[in-house]
This record gives sequence, structure tokens and C-alpha cells, in this order.
Amino acid sequence: EDRLTPLKSGDLNAPPEEGLCKDGAEEKISRDILERKRKTEVEIPLEKYFLRYLYVTDISSQAWCEQQTVYKMEQPELVKPERTAAMREGSSIHLARELEVHDIVSVTTQTREDSWAIKCLNILAMIPVLQSGGQVREFPVFGELDGIYIMGVIDELAYSTRGELELRELKTRASPTLPTSAQKRTHEIQVSLYKLLFDGLVSGVLQPDVFMQRLKLRPGQELGPEVKKHATGSGLTVSTFRDVLELTCLNLKYSELPMIDSLKLEYCFQGDGSLLGCDEVKFEKEKVLGEVTFYLSYWKGLREVKGVDIEDAWKCRMCEYSSICEWRAQKTESIALQMLNKRFK
Ligand code: SF4
Repeated sequence: EDRLTPLKSGDLNAPPEEGLCKDGAEEKISRDILERKRKTEVEIPLEKYFLRYLYVTDISSQAWCEQQTVYKMEQPELVKPERTAAMREGSSIHLARELEVHDIVSVTTQTREDSWAIKCLNILAMIPVLQSGGQVREFPVFGELDGIYIMGVIDELAYSTRGELELRELKTRASPTLPTSAQKRTHEIQVSLYKLLFDGLVSGVLQPDVFMQRLKLRPGQELGPEVKKHATGSGLTVSTFRDVLELTCLNLKYSELPMIDSLKLEYCFQGDGSLLGCDEVKFEKEKVLGEVTFYLSYWKGLREVKGVDIEDAWKCRMCEYSSICEWRAQKTESIALQMLNKRFK
């Protein structure tokens, strides 16, 4: 996967400095290296899972259960087949909606830079549509929040009857019911993060050089022939990844596109595509930033992974990982102990 990267071996396995390898010193250095390696594995999940960046949905899913988010990353094969089928069904509804507003062109990519160039070319194609008051779907957004790069794709951007730029997120439901408030919170965080990233892009905060360096993308990488052909077909003359990224950042910055004014969630039933309901999401910047900072602190290794609180233990009943969940086992054990203590007091 594009966001995965091996740890830089030079960081942890660097040869000891000259002159230090004498007698017991060499052994001590080996122990130190092992200890540092162990700490990295335990303490910095971003490195442990080889992640260059996170998806918006990684973070919003932490609001449901962080431990589950991590298990899904570690053991995706445990996700129930019916859930995977429902996700596939949801994806085809999204695809059908996307096809309503534009054709999908298949472009062969050869490198990670090619893949990112395609995201940029998509943005460049959508800017004029938004400038002329049109509607776009699958708008890529990315940027840095609290020291970590985050990537996402906005379902739909369009102008409301009041002329405000509205973000619409479609959620498909396997049953004809609206989600619980706990599920809704994850959706609210998701769309709020999209807004933060989009607003950042149109305000020009993304620095191409820092972005490329942090994601380990090669600025001078020549674009693949199909990507170049696609760019030329759109009237753009670009040859390297840096060309496309800089062009995208400049276009976004000087596009005079507004920031997103409103956030809307749309729930529809997978069975027949009927609309179940819509929700307006109030954007509460400070609250969202506070929550996101907490979620990101796990990925930075500033705290241990957290499962659900006791009052949300009902989530465990529908969780694929309940039989292996260490958090759940610990909580169950501590509750049993508390009950025993009470009994014998
Ligand atoms: Fe989270 Fe409960 Fe699942 Fe554990 S069993 S991952 S605490 S939902």
C-alpha cells in the first residue's frame, strides 16, 4: 500500500560510533539498539505499522473503538465476510453516484509518485468545476494535522441554494435504520476532518517540499507515460511529480474557492437505495481538534491503545475481535475483581 514504508534501517541499526566497540561496550551497544528497537515497536504505532500517513477514516473510527481500529490494521482477515460484502455494496453505490457527474478514465500508474500525481490531476480538473458553481465528487484532500499527514476523499462538494459550499457525505446502511449516536459521532468527526483539510488546501498551507519529504515522495521522479498523456490531454505540461504537486498547490491557493460552509450527512438504504435521512453537522473546530489531538497521540506513541469505556461495552458484542481483545479481557477481569471485593467486604 502506498502509505506503508519500511523503517529506515539506518535509524536503528546504525553502526556504533568508531572507538566505542571495546570489551563489554559492544555488547552494551547491541543491548541499547535492541532496547531502542523494542521501544519503537511498543511506543510508536506509526512506525510499527510502517505508516507514512493516516486516512481520515482511521481517525474517525477511533471514536468508535481505537482498539478495534488497530486490530483491523493488524488482522484484517478477521472482518466478517458479510461486513466486507456490505462495504462492497456501499462502494458500488458510491461509484454509481460518481458516474452521474463524470466519466472515470483508467490510467496505469507505475510509481507512488504517479498515484499521487493522479490525485493532483483530479483536483486540478475539479477546481474549475467548483469555480463555475458546479458539483464534484470524490475530491481528494490531504494535509498535516498535529504533526501527522492525513489523507481523505470527500464524497461530494456542491453549492447549496444559498450559494454556500456544502460537503455531502453519503453513508450507505445495510439495514433501513438510522445510525446510533455513537456511529454518528464517527461520521461527524470524518466530515469535520475533511473540512479542516480542504480549508487548509485552499488557504495554501500545504508546503510541497515538506509534504514530499515527509511522505518520502521523489520530487524529480519522471511521471509515467500514461500519466503524462492524461495530463497533456487536460492541457497541462508537466514532466515530474514536483511539477504536478506545485501546480496543484498554487492552483488551490489562488483559485479563490471558498472554505466549506456546511457539512451534511446523507443516509441511504443499500437494499433499494432509498434515502433514510439527512443530518446537518455543526462544525465545532476546537472540539474536533481536541479529539483529533487525543486520537493522534496514540499514533505518535504518547499513550497506550484504548478500547471502549464500560458504558460502551455493548459495542464489543458486535465486534469481530471480541474473542482476542486484550482490552476487553482486562476490563472483564477488573470488573470481576471489583465484584468479588465488594462481596467479601
Ligand atoms: Fe473494542 Fe470491544 Fe472490540 Fe475490544 S472487543 S476491540 S474493546 S469493541
